[in-house]
Amino acid sequence: MTPRTLITDAQNTWCPGCGNFTIQHTLKNILADREKEGKSLDDVVLVSGIGCHAKIADYLNINSVYTLHGRTIPVATGIKLANPNLTVICCCGDGDCYAEGLDHLVFAAKRNIDLTLIVHNNRVYGLTTGQYTPTSPLGFRGKSTPLGTAEYPFNPIELMLASGATYIARGYTRKMDPLKKLIAGGIAHHGFSFIDVLQICATFFPAADYYGPRVYDLAGHDTGDFEASCHVAREWDYNTDARIALGLLYRRQAPTFEEKMQPRPVAANERQEAITALLKSRT
Ligand code: SF4
Repeated sequence: MTPRTLITDAQNTWCPGCGNFTIQHTLKNILADREKEGKSLDDVVLVSGIGCHAKIADYLNINSVYTLHGRTIPVATGIKLANPNLTVICCCGDGDCYAEGLDHLVFAAKRNIDLTLIVHNNRVYGLTTGQYTPTSPLGFRGKSTPLGTAEYPFNPIELMLASGATYIARGYTRKMDPLKKLIAGGIAHHGFSFIDVLQICATFFPAADYYGPRVYDLAGHDTGDFEASCHVAREWDYNTDARIALGLLYRRQAPTFEEKMQPRPVAANERQEAITALLKSRT
């Protein structure tokens, strides 16, 4: 089998130095490894939203769907339910996923649908030239907040722990090899995988000098210890000068949404008994 050319010839319009290139090439390397293992790439679907990140659907040569703003997860959920044999990867932005699509994110984690969600968290709306997002730091000055934001950012890792996600990780676009391990691990994980990627926006949030001295590798952490994972998640709240853990924060196994949604035979009287019990409970 001739290896597929994974980068398309579409004109790339990301800014020089953009962290989206790292995520694109990380995914490309993971897909190439998959092909080398003899697995077909026809079984992989990439779903993207709206924003700079979304162009990845144009730049990677695999099945892909460009969706609406904030709607990557419901589209990906529909794809997975229609054909559970597919490997479904969602790329979305922090504005896309933590603002417009926040409710979908919480429910995907709660349901444990078997998707891999990669959040290109550049902490700014880059495509629309620099408005603040839910993870922008307090006081962030952008096009919509020239005097600085009056909101604290929220902590998506803590949110995912509280929502029941079964694979929670944080990567950084200046650490490509660890990022590859986290994303490949998320794809291999059976259930909802959440990878928050601190992505450099070279134009509107060039935060490499901020991240550089603060990030550290989360070696030796017990990923099955929920309380310890909460502790690590709270070390950095996306606003302070604390150190920033990179790596796999939490993982557990649980039945997936699509497994629980499989049709099962219903005994003749089971439905009637359930309705009768429901009616009785209301009287
Ligand atoms: Fe990348 Fe930021 Fe440019 Fe968008 S605006 S392409 S996120 S550097």
